[in-house]
Formats: sequence, structure tokens, C-alpha cells
Amino acid sequence: MSTTSRIHNFSAGPAVLALPVLEEAQRDLLSLPGVGMSVMEISHRSKAFEDLLGRAIEDIRALADIPANYKILMLQGGATLQFSMVPMNLLAADGVADYIDTGSWSGKAIKEARKVGTINIAASTKADKYTSIPAQQDLTLTPGAAYAHITTNNTIEGTAWTALPDVGDVPLVADTSSEMFSCPIDISRFGLVYSGAQKNLGPSGVTLVIIREDLLERTSDALPSMLNYKLHVENNSLYNTPNTFGIYILGLTVRWVRSLGGLPAVAAINQRKAEKVYNEIDRSGFYRGTARKDSRSLMNVTFRLATEELEKMFVKESTVAGLDGLRGHRSVGGMRASIYNAFPEAGVDALVEFMREFERARG
Ligand code: PMP
Repeated sequence: MSTTSRIHNFSAGPAVLALPVLEEAQRDLLSLPGVGMSVMEISHRSKAFEDLLGRAIEDIRALADIPANYKILMLQGGATLQFSMVPMNLLAADGVADYIDTGSWSGKAIKEARKVGTINIAASTKADKYTSIPAQQDLTLTPGAAYAHITTNNTIEGTAWTALPDVGDVPLVADTSSEMFSCPIDISRFGLVYSGAQKNLGPSGVTLVIIREDLLERTSDALPSMLNYKLHVENNSLYNTPNTFGIYILGLTVRWVRSLGGLPAVAAINQRKAEKVYNEIDRSGFYRGTARKDSRSLMNVTFRLATEELEKMFVKESTVAGLDGLRGHRSVGGMRASIYNAFPEAGVDALVEFMREFERARG
């Protein structure tokens, strides 16, 4: 398949990858330069792989200016395993963890944390169908909580925090799966961030975890080894066989983001891309954005039409027009355009053109 036949992929994840990354991986698939074997065929204990992992970690550290007292891990089990690992490692039997419930994925994080310990819901926007992010004055935080958990970007509902909540000295823990490295992130504001790779970072099967060193003191040796952050840190993510190919693609992706000029540069592109779609949504009233304007995500743009029948037509006709994956999550309906870092601006322009044409024909 030639690159020109690639269609516009609006999938929420696994999602579109950067073309230069795919091309490099394709070029080196049979033989990594200087290695003579595919990245999938070498030992994770080989110097070649350790160099590759080391470089990926260095690039991540440089890209987000991550302070030296934060450890960078590449784990497995997706963001979903982090829903359990976070409380298992950080929440003591007599402690309380605050969770801010802003969407389906926050809800799943809460469900798993409840199996481990005591949870306080510091705020929830469930009553307004998760269309907004709570204000600081709406948070009921627990003094001395073990940590406070947020989901920075709500993939399904299309909302995002535009400013982090103030949780005082309590470590802020964030699921950043659907917006990691789409804009600058001040890691020093967090105790831990985790991110399934399959949206902005690479393929599925790798989870990036960044953890502040002092929090490792909380982990208990009684935890199963694979669920113990400290053990993963001590073994530089090589306690067992990691997803070597996934880490390789993640490394290439992070390098690609750096080559674009880093996080401020991609943030400017992402802002412009999202504005184009939101401007179209707001232009005439034919489309209706589902997120409250002050809570809109730049990564997942969710919108509806007047009837479900029109929405079905929109999805069907957009697919025929080469715009794939615009159907919203099955739990909320409507449409969702996921426009992560690697989603090209030309695809956004094609969507806006399609929206105009659809409105002209059906409006
Ligand atoms: N958190 C968020 C914000 C997500 O978008 C997703 C996946 N869509 C998950 C968690 C679950 O990730 P995984 O499938 O990697 O476990």
C-alpha cells in the first residue's frame, strides 16, 4: 500500500502514528542498522536493546524536561493496570485517596481503587453527563490524602482539564493517556503520571509511567513483583521481557515530536487543529459540541447532530469519503474526532470540508 492511499484515521486509539515513524520502522524492520536483526528478534538484555531503551528514556526526559528525581518506566497491562497499581503501591491500609470523577475512565479507575482501599470522591461531573471539568471550589479534598487522582483528558466525553487542580502537598496522580505529550506538561506538579501509549505515544502494549522517587518508599515488598513500581525502577523496566517493539516505536515517536520543535510546537499545531473543528461545530448550530466550552478537549472533539438518524448518515458518508473512525464511543453516541499529535492537519481540513458539505446537503 502506498502512503498516498492512507485514509484519514480519527480513531481514539490505537490511533494514527506519525508517517516518518512508520517509514523508519518499515525501512529498518528486517535489520536494525548495525545490528543485522529486527528489533523484534533481539534479546531485551542485548546492548542494542538496552541502548534503544536508554535513548527512548533520555528523549522522554529531554522532551518534557523531566526532573532527575522522577523515574521513567515502560510497563505493560495498559492504563487499566495502573488503575490497580496506583492504589496498591501508594495507598496504605489506613489512608484515603481522593479521586475526581470526570468521565468513564475516571469511573473505571475509581472502581479498581475501591477494591484496594478507602476512596473519597472529591468531585464528580457525572450528573451533567461528564460534559465539564469541576472548578477548584467544587473539590472536597481530604487533608493528608495519600494522593489525588485525575484524568487529564477524558477520551470518551471530549473534555480536558485546562489548568491542574490545586491539591496542596498531596501528590497529584494523573491518567494522561489521551493527551500525553500533546502540550507542555510540568511533571514537577505530579507525584505520578501514567499513559497507555496507543494514542499519542506509539502502539498499544506499552504504558509510560513517570513516578516521583520518594513515592517508591511506600511500595510494599509483599506486592506481586509485576505490580511493584520499585522493582520495575530497580530493574529499569527490564524485570521481565517488555514490549520491545512497542518501546522502539515509542522511542521513534518521541524523537519525532522533538524534531517538530518539542511540546510547545506540537501544542500550537494541536490548538490550531482543534480550533478548526470547534469553529465549524459552532458556526451555524447544525452541529452541537457536547463538552462545555471551557472544558473542551483538544484531542477528542465530540459533537452531535439533531437526530440519531442524521448521525448515522454522517458516520456512513464520512467513512465513504475516506474519514474513518468518527463514530462516538458506544456509551455516549454522536461523533468523535480524535486528532492526536500524529493526526495530520490536512485530515482536519478534510473533516471541516466534509462537515460543510454534509450541512449543505442535509441542513
Ligand atoms: N484511560 C484513558 C483516559 C483512556 O482513554 C483509556 C483507553 N481508551 C484507558 C485509560 C484504558 O487504557 P488501556 O486500554 O491502555 O488499559
